[in-house]
Amino acid sequence: MSMLTLLGTGTCQLEYERRASSVLLELDTTCILFDCGHGVVQRLLEAGVRHYQIEHIVLSHFHPDHVSDLVPFLQAGAWSQRDPRSTDVHLYGPPGVRQLVDGLIQLYGERSLRQPTYAIQVHEITEGCYTVASHQFEAASLPPAGNHGLRFTWHDKTYALTGDSYFHEQEIAFLKDVDLAVIDSGHISDAQIVDLAVSTQARTIVCSHLYRELHAAHLQAEARQRGYQGTLLIGHDLMSFVL
Ligand SMILES: [Zn+2]
Repeated sequence: MSMLTLLGTGTCQLEYERRASSVLLELDTTCILFDCGHGVVQRLLEAGVRHYQIEHIVLSHFHPDHVSDLVPFLQAGAWSQRDPRSTDVHLYGPPGVRQLVDGLIQLYGERSLRQPTYAIQVHEITEGCYTVASHQFEAASLPPAGNHGLRFTWHDKTYALTGDSYFHEQEIAFLKDVDLAVIDSGHISDAQIVDLAVSTQARTIVCSHLYRELHAAHLQAEARQRGYQGTLLIGHDLMSFVL
């Protein structure tokens, strides 16, 4: 079964209920992480996936709340006595991802985050299509953080994950008519969330990256009144969708 699971729906804020940013994609037998913010490797366990089963991590951008659990993730691969990594791990991200990974390895030391028995393969992605484990993904620039949203099609449905994004034309184009969108609702206002729903008509919009409490019924009513046909949901950690 293929699933999309929100591992972390929070931000840099330290909160009981929400870890930082991450979405787990299970596409047939391939497990892919989109972002890896703080607390997320623990959530991965709760979702029933061992760290070594993740062979692909796509990073939207390099703010700590999207990348900081790369350190425990890579260290577990290299040094776990219970379940060390034996396969390569592929890291994808906007230009600069190689510098990030090299920087972490330099900071912690060559052997802290990897072993010679497998490789960390880094893929710098400019905008457009790229392949992750034989799946076609698309990267779209969503300013202002040098951020790449991720979009893909699976069984004739389209999915879009924004990472960090302000409200602008690029975001509207990115979410237009998708079946399921996971959006950064922390950097935009309630009115902009409603605008996004109305102007994109995305079938289901899940509000994530939450800096503040949102009121689903209120947002939904407002959007409905302005002609939105779909559903607005407030995300929570470990919320999942069958794809
Ligand atoms: Zn963020």
